[in-house]
Amino acid sequence: MANLTIATYNANGCAMDRRMYLKRHLDDVDVLFVQEQWLNEDGIRGLQQDMDNAFVYGKSGMNATELLVGRPYGGLAILFNTRSNRPSIAWHRASDNSIAEYKRVLALLLTEIPIPDAALRCPDQEYCSHREAIALYSVSINAAGMAAAEAFLRRRRKRYRAEHVAPFKEMSVIWHRIWEQSGRPPDGLLFDLMRQANRDYKSAVRSHARNQDNLSNARMADSLTLSRSRDFWAEVKKISYNHRPSPSVMDGIHGDEKICERFRDKYDEVYNCVPYDVGEMDNLRATLSDRVVTRCQNGLCYCDHSLNVNDVNKAIRKLKKEKSGGDLAPSSDHYLNAPRNLHVQIALLLSVFMSHSFFVYRFTAFISHTYPQKYEKVNSKI
Ligand SMILES: [Zn+2]
Ligand SMILES: [Zn+2]
Repeated sequence: MANLTIATYNANGCAMDRRMYLKRHLDDVDVLFVQEQWLNEDGIRGLQQDMDNAFVYGKSGMNATELLVGRPYGGLAILFNTRSNRPSIAWHRASDNSIAEYKRVLALLLTEIPIPDAALRCPDQEYCSHREAIALYSVSINAAGMAAAEAFLRRRRKRYRAEHVAPFKEMSVIWHRIWEQSGRPPDGLLFDLMRQANRDYKSAVRSHARNQDNLSNARMADSLTLSRSRDFWAEVKKISYNHRPSPSVMDGIHGDEKICERFRDKYDEVYNCVPYDVGEMDNLRATLSDRVVTRCQNGLCYCDHSLNVNDVNKAIRKLKKEKSGGDLAPSSDHYLNAPRNLHVQIALLLSVFMSHSFFVYRFTAFISHTYPQKYEKVNSKI
């Protein structure tokens, strides 16, 4: 099981200063349990909107149907860290055991998520008030997947700069060589020195990977206070991973500005040529609009506009591995390794999305992974 850092905080309210503290505190931990947040259900949703580095599960301590007398009280919240500077989950290194645990726990978490029955049986999607419930349902499904993966799977290793651990590595190699040349003694002074040098090297790697940002900040501060502007800019360059000097000629074009324009044109071309063809998408949109008017609105639909589990299952099986869903959404592997009841929940969620013509941004990962790239393919299924 991966290491999880957990903290608990008795907030006594959730005013702006507490929110700022929670946000800062979340940078150091994976899960933060908050007691006494004093929020009603609306307030908990507001907290989720303010915490852009966390998924928030919360429960109000107050009864929404009763008039509040005196100050607000009670309530708890669980904040799951989703900060973006963390490496992604290393699915490729996950053992069968961890994936089985992920599946088991996700299946359990999903059973705890209330299904928005009222939204599913909604008679008037245009004037109903189910959007918040649907959004919450969607966020809860995502959060369950992320939380289960967080608990049982390791993240990719953080990169560190080799130059900072080089002296430790050198010492470790030297002592290892001396120990080898002395006939690899299984104990004694030489053995201890070799082991110690190896331990120092490994601990330097770990500490640099962990404190990379702090070390870099410290070096930048040093160069600023000592007025070493060259060191300062060198550090800035390293942070932006721009180690190499820029070429002055590219594709026969000279000068920074023209090279920039060339890059812009190329990116434009590459970006627009892969996902879809504008003409094809216009055709698809026109076909769909036409069918909505001529069939759906005249009661001639061949289906009830709801997705079934097999559709979702088929879509998930088509996903490619290791497609990121962005900072706040699960990756394709979260779905590929998911238990069957996630497929059921996604089918329900997509059905309420469709019936309410409403869509939650954080759920885009699933949609974009299964996004149709060819008009003919889509058209043949309509
Ligand atoms: Zn509704
Ligand atoms: Zn229809």
